[in-house]
Amino acid sequence: MRGRKYLSVAQTLRDMLVAQRWDVGERLPAERALSEELGVPRATIREALIVLEVEGLLEVRHASGIYVCDGMPTARPDLPVDMSPFELLRARQVLESAIASAAALNVSDEQIDDMRQALDQEERDISDRRGSYEGDKRFHALLAEATQNDALIATMEQLWSLRLASALWNQLHSRIFDDDYRRSWAADHHEILAAIEARDPESARAATWRHLGNVSRTLLILSDPDVIPPSDKQPDLLARTQ
Ligand SMILES: [Zn+2]
Repeated sequence: MRGRKYLSVAQTLRDMLVAQRWDVGERLPAERALSEELGVPRATIREALIVLEVEGLLEVRHASGIYVCDGMPTARPDLPVDMSPFELLRARQVLESAIASAAALNVSDEQIDDMRQALDQEERDISDRRGSYEGDKRFHALLAEATQNDALIATMEQLWSLRLASALWNQLHSRIFDDDYRRSWAADHHEILAAIEARDPESARAATWRHLGNVSRTLLILSDPDVIPPSDKQPDLLARTQ
């Protein structure tokens, strides 16, 4: 099943660990090398490695790499059925760009006011540095509400709750130590809002598509265990392609 590609890659890597291709304490090859060897995209390798990390077979040392733990693979039937974080983001990109386009045609003046307030809230969330995503979440929810379509609203909520329940998503997020990316996401949100204010469905669709592509790319870059933490500021970090 195409949607479970990262699980079959996780199984391949698990088999390699069992076959002791690498010793306990040894550093795994870089994701790029594994990606070439197994012929799958880096995002899929990232997800497969996170599965093995959740299982306790691998340990991620930030800015150093991924190391083999002292432990044999065990079946983990207790792990919840999970969703691939990057597939979830892709689904949001498809759904929410259509939502934004419908929102631009149906939004009320009052909802536009609410969206402005959500983005003000997001600015405060970012400045407070307490890790709150309230404004961000509210903005996306308001876009769905502005479609005036209950089926679209429910589908969107479903995607968000799948994300919150995802162990893989939470593990991926726990690797991220830098939150400067939030400024760039806030700028994306303002672009979407401008298109909504202009009641321009095509611009709203395009801006939302770009935004969620941005989110996916940022997560892939920032959760890379081989990346040095940007405490010394690497202004080109987000500009780098994978
Ligand atoms: Zn957003």
